[in-house]
Amino acid sequence: MALKTILNYSPNFNPKKRPSKQIKFIIFHYTGMKNESNALKRLTDIQSEVSCHYLIKNNGEIVKIVPDLYIAWHAGESSWKNYKSLNQNSIGIEITNPGHEYGYKNFTKKQITALLKLSKFLIKKYKINAKNILGHSDIAVLRKKDPGEKFPWKYLFKNKIGIWHTLNKRDLIKNRKLETSKIEENIFFNNLFKVGYSKKYKTNISKNKYLIKLAKTFQRRFRQELVDGKIDQECLIISKNLIKAHN
Ligand SMILES: [Zn+2]
Repeated sequence: MALKTILNYSPNFNPKKRPSKQIKFIIFHYTGMKNESNALKRLTDIQSEVSCHYLIKNNGEIVKIVPDLYIAWHAGESSWKNYKSLNQNSIGIEITNPGHEYGYKNFTKKQITALLKLSKFLIKKYKINAKNILGHSDIAVLRKKDPGEKFPWKYLFKNKIGIWHTLNKRDLIKNRKLETSKIEENIFFNNLFKVGYSKKYKTNISKNKYLIKLAKTFQRRFRQELVDGKIDQECLIISKNLIKAHN
C-alpha cells in the first residue's frame, strides 16, 4: 500500500535510528497555531526543537516531516501505563487546527479522510494496538488539550482506529449530570488509571487539581459533548465500559 506524501523534512530528531518494533504508539496532535504555514515553519525550524512525523494540512495533504524510524520531538514530558517520554515509542501526527488558544475549529473532511488513510497505513505497517492510539492530552494531562473534543475519536473507532465505548448513546445520555458519590469517583479514577492514564502529578499542584484536569482530559476523549471536569454517572458508566470492552 503506497501512501502519498509531500516531503518537507525537519532537522529536529534524534540522530540514532530506532528499530521498527520500538514503534508502539500513534499520538495525535493539533498544531495550535493561527496559520498553517507558520506551523510548518515551526515544525521544521532548528530553533524550535519541535517536530513530528507527519502533518495533515487543511486540504488533506500529508507532509512527511521526520522519517518513521527516527525519533521526532512531539510528545515532550509524557506518560502512559509504564511508558515514559513517549517520543521514543511513537509516531507523532500533527493536524492543522488553531486549537483552543486561537479559535478551535472542526477538523475538515479532507483532514479526516487523510487521517484515516495515514493511520491505517501505520497500524498495518507497525502492528499498532488500538489501545495505543492516543491524543497528546492523554499522555500529558497537565500540559496539553490537543487534539481536543472536536477530534473524531468515535468515527476513527468505527474504522478500527483507537478505542471508544460500546454503549448506546440514547441510554447513556440519561446519565449526564447525575451526581456520583465519593466512592464512585474513586472507581472512576481507578478505571482511568487501568486504561493507562498517569497516576502521578507534580508536587506543585494539588491532587484535587490534577484529578479535575484528568476528568477533563477523559471527557475531551470519551465524552466530548460536555467537558466540565465533573464526574457524573455518564462518565462513570463510560469508564466501566472501557475497562470491560478493551482490557
Ligand atoms: Zn501536541
